[in-house]
Amino acid sequence: MNVFSAAVRKLTLQYLAVIMVLSLIFSFVLYQVANREITGSIRGQGRMIIERSGGFLDRREINRILQREQTLARQRLVGRLIVFNVVVLGAGALASYYLARETMVPLEKSVEAQARFTADASHELRTPLTAMRTEIEVALRSKKLSTSESKQLLTSNLEEVNRLESLVGGLLALARLPGGSVIKQKVELAPIVDKVVLRLRPISDQRSITVQTSIAQSLAVIASNDAVDRTLTILLDNAIKYSLKGGMIDIRASRYVKQVRISVTDSGVGIKPSDQAHIFERFYRADQSRTTSGQSGYGLGLAIARETVELYGGRIVVKSQPGKGSTFTVSLPSA
Ligand code: ADP
Repeated sequence: MNVFSAAVRKLTLQYLAVIMVLSLIFSFVLYQVANREITGSIRGQGRMIIERSGGFLDRREINRILQREQTLARQRLVGRLIVFNVVVLGAGALASYYLARETMVPLEKSVEAQARFTADASHELRTPLTAMRTEIEVALRSKKLSTSESKQLLTSNLEEVNRLESLVGGLLALARLPGGSVIKQKVELAPIVDKVVLRLRPISDQRSITVQTSIAQSLAVIASNDAVDRTLTILLDNAIKYSLKGGMIDIRASRYVKQVRISVTDSGVGIKPSDQAHIFERFYRADQSRTTSGQSGYGLGLAIARETVELYGGRIVVKSQPGKGSTFTVSLPSA
């Protein structure tokens, strides 16, 4: 915060310096031109008065009066230029401050978001690490640790390690997204959807969930294979995670004018309207997902999906009814 206040102050002074230099140059040029005009016009007036008076008036007296007039006119000019520059200084200071703030606010917001993200990430990383440390410490304190207890500890630790691995993977994906090169190419949807469904089949089979697809063979989008794969994997993984055993998931895609819409519909737990506005935020998890044992993630999947899709000029939206299910629809430019 202090760094930004100092930067705003510095920028304000720099902008103001530029404005004042321009104003002073303008005043100097104006003074030169006006002064020449005053001198010329007073000399002309002097000649005219002497000619018209026909020698009755004292030439030296006339010159003295005209010189006084000239000095007064110059003083008036300098006075006005000083007032002008003071006004420019005041207005310039306000304008410079406004411009400096406008320049710094987006930077400040992005640094704040980064700091919040780092704090959230550290918090999420610390929780499984603390759990693992406590379990290991308790086990080490025990005098006689049986083989089955050791196995139990290792299994529990492995679960935490798996969770940490997926969290770090998510964090890396988010960190790489904005800086990564955006390769735009024609991506056929049907083969990628088949690949993703096949990859997640062990999980869907385990929960007796049927995944059906309906994608025209020729349908293609402008994106990258990785982006489409990553987005669909996140959506299908969620659809499976938040479905009840024996549920149905439907993946379909169709063209709408210049876009292709791919939707993933499940008949699972659904999302409350108050949560729908937030689920695409990093680390946001809806309440009911936390209570569904063994199925909670870190709230990064949808943030990654949205940021990925937006890189390719696409959008992702959700329609959901608690207790009935959800439909996530991704729109991408059609190829
Ligand atoms: P998570 O790792 O928690 O699944 P996501 O970012 O993928 O993180 O999802 C954020 C939240 O959105 C989830 O915690 C869950 O509450 C909700 N959510 C996402 N997909 C679904 C879905 N298909 N059905 C119900 N809730 C969902």
